[in-house]
Amino acid sequence: MSKSSHRHFTNLITVSRCFVVRACLSFGCLLTRSDCVQTAVPPKDASEVAVRRFRALIKQARTKVPFYASRLGNIPTKDEGAINRDGLSLFDCLTQFPLTTKDDVETNFPDRITDGSDSSDWRLMSTRGTAQRLITVQGFAKRDAVRAAQLRSLRLSGGYQPGMPMVEIPPEICDVVCGDEGERDEGVLSQAWEMFRNRRLLDAKSVRELRGLVERHWILNRKMYPGFGRFGSHPPNHVLDEYVKRLRRDRPYVLKALATYLVAIAKHIRDNNVQPLSIPVIKTMGSRVTPSQRAVLEQSFGGTYWDDYGSAEFGSIACECDQHDGLHVFDDLFFVEVVDAEGKRMPDGKLGWIVVTDLVNTTMPLIRYKIGDVGTMTAETCQCGRTAPRIKVKGRAFDTIVDGQSRWRTTDDIVDFLEDFPGVDSGQLTAIGNQRYELTVVEDPKQTLDQPKLCDEFSSWIGQDAKIELRVASTLQPESGGKFRYVRGDLDQQRAEQIVSSGFSPP
Ligand SMILES: [Zn+2]
Repeated sequence: MSKSSHRHFTNLITVSRCFVVRACLSFGCLLTRSDCVQTAVPPKDASEVAVRRFRALIKQARTKVPFYASRLGNIPTKDEGAINRDGLSLFDCLTQFPLTTKDDVETNFPDRITDGSDSSDWRLMSTRGTAQRLITVQGFAKRDAVRAAQLRSLRLSGGYQPGMPMVEIPPEICDVVCGDEGERDEGVLSQAWEMFRNRRLLDAKSVRELRGLVERHWILNRKMYPGFGRFGSHPPNHVLDEYVKRLRRDRPYVLKALATYLVAIAKHIRDNNVQPLSIPVIKTMGSRVTPSQRAVLEQSFGGTYWDDYGSAEFGSIACECDQHDGLHVFDDLFFVEVVDAEGKRMPDGKLGWIVVTDLVNTTMPLIRYKIGDVGTMTAETCQCGRTAPRIKVKGRAFDTIVDGQSRWRTTDDIVDFLEDFPGVDSGQLTAIGNQRYELTVVEDPKQTLDQPKLCDEFSSWIGQDAKIELRVASTLQPESGGKFRYVRGDLDQQRAEQIVSSGFSPP
């Protein structure tokens, strides 16, 4: 078979597969009373749906969840009535609710922050962030919404249809208690056999579990490659060659990987004159790609980079449209705000803390939850015509540096500064207090690095009296969770509160 007819043949297979898969997906949802397929399509009346969900959430939180009962108790219920009229007043009404922090969740977990429902239906999700490890609980409805939001994000950002081939390269250590997206990672057939043997073929919970597995392995058509975290950020060439070879053979439509892996493979292709791949959609998982890194990814992988936003607590929250100008919030599933330290909304385009209210998870409500990221938000209608608010995520709050002029320098700013500096391939920065920083860089083999110049320029960029301790390394090591952390910041809670409450607005 010639190369082009082989390609036509594979395309035909993919198209038929997508067709069959869509039918299976709908049938599976019918069987397990799931709304996944409907929820995956954004509703036309998103704000009405949001209001309905919000009311149910507040009612559940106030009556069933001790932590919220005590905090929401003195907020008058008539406001909940007022929010009925339209989505806007709901959004305004939300500011009355106090912020929920990770400390709140940790202190009150599990009994005081869950609704006392049957825990056999719970799925525990672990977030091993760079700062704090948390466990959140998802009931069936939430898990269903997580699946739906994932499908939605994949379709809106890059046009993926279930059944198309996808490759994932997650961080080396899985950070979820019960397997990816809350499903146990077993084979479909072995789960089916177990159900048959234990006469649980009609048991609702087992059927749901089986559906999850079918979805992951057969419907989403995902292949998972192991990570290369043990080699650090810069693995040897023969390791990277293997990944390129495998990707060329598997020809995925979507490649979704830890940002560090994406960048390492892309730079390997660029720097070694390897023929670029042709993967239409590139996405990151569980970490950020900075604006400057996009170009090399798109060139080496031969596709478009699509940004999205989500977390283990919430699943997919927002994704880019084809304008690539901010991420559209799934506003029927979440309320997202950008606020100052006291929970007051920041004006459009101003940097602040990202705060999320999950409208679906009533098992463990998270209302105005400080997710730990910083970013900006705009309510302007996008060029694409969608009216859902858009966010731009700039990095983790714990990874943000407050510079000599009290401005915030986010991970994106710092990584882009370092990687754009001649002779630097990548860098890692740690604030050690009093305007002192440890800077570790991996040199670009193609250009000489002028070390004193880097220290001088970085020092004046970050603040006049900054002291830089520079170290050169051959590779950067990941954190224990398998992810890489490029900035260890000093935007600690208290300092940030002072800055923000003093009326200062970051650039
Ligand atoms: Zn748009």
